[in-house]
Amino acid sequence: MPRLTKAEILGDTPHTLARVIQNNTLQIFQEDGTQIIRHFHTDCLTFKPDGSIIFNTDGHKSSTTKLRINEHQDKIFIYQKHRVWYVTTRDSMFNDKYQSIVFADGMTWWPEDTLVVGIKIKNGILTGTGKAPNKKLIASIRKYCRDFVKQLPVNPPDGGDCWYCSILNGNEPNDHLLSHIEEKYYVPSLLARAMDNADAGKAYRWACFKITDINGNVSSDSWGYVIKNDYGKKQVERWLYNYLYRRLIDGATSNRLTSPGMY
Ligand SMILES: [Zn+2]
Repeated sequence: MPRLTKAEILGDTPHTLARVIQNNTLQIFQEDGTQIIRHFHTDCLTFKPDGSIIFNTDGHKSSTTKLRINEHQDKIFIYQKHRVWYVTTRDSMFNDKYQSIVFADGMTWWPEDTLVVGIKIKNGILTGTGKAPNKKLIASIRKYCRDFVKQLPVNPPDGGDCWYCSILNGNEPNDHLLSHIEEKYYVPSLLARAMDNADAGKAYRWACFKITDINGNVSSDSWGYVIKNDYGKKQVERWLYNYLYRRLIDGATSNRLTSPGMY
C-alpha cells in the first residue's frame, strides 16, 4: 500500500491544525470548529460545529473506509451485506428494525433535538440515506459483462471507441456507461479501465486485446489461451462487473477507482 505524506493528503485544505492519526489518515481542524477525518483524499467524516456528522466515501466503499468511519464516531455503525452498506446503531447491531437503512454518500447524522426531516434512530436522526440497489440494473450489468467476455479478443483501446471511457482519470457522469449497456456496445477502453482498477496482469491484456507488434504478430493469437478456460473468462467478467458495479451502483465518479492504496 503506498503511503502519502501529510502534505499530499492535506493539499490546500484550510486548517488550523492537522495531524496524522493513522496510515494515510489525517485529522483536520478548521477555523469554524469543523473537524474532518480524511483517508487519502476522501473526507470520510466531517463533524460540523452544529453537532451534525457527514459520512462519505467518494464511491470508494472499501473495508478501510468503512473501518475509518466506524472507529472515529460512535453514533452509527456500518456493516456490509451482499456489497451493500447498511446503517445501524452500535447497540442494536443486526437488529431487524435497522436492516432497511441503506448508506449513501453525504448521509448525515443529526442530534435528536434538531429540526430536520429524516429517519429517527436510537440516538439521533439520519438524513440523505440511500436506496436499496436497483436489482434490474444489477442484472443488466451482469448480462453485459457475460456478453462482453464472449466478444473477446477485441481491438485495442483507442480514443475513438468512447472518449469518456478512454480517459485514465476521467471524472464525468456515468450516463455513457448506461448507454454502452443498453446499446450492447463492448467498449475496449471500458475493459482497459476495469483491468487497470484490478491491476490485471499483462498476459490478460495481451489475451483480451488484439495488439499487433512490429512484425505483424497479434498478441491475442499467442496469448488467447489465458482466457480460453472458464477461470480466465470468469476473471475478466469479474473485473468488468466490479468496475461497473462501483461506478453505477456505488456511484464512484472516476475511471480510476482504486486511488493509491484504497485497498
Ligand atoms: Zn464510455
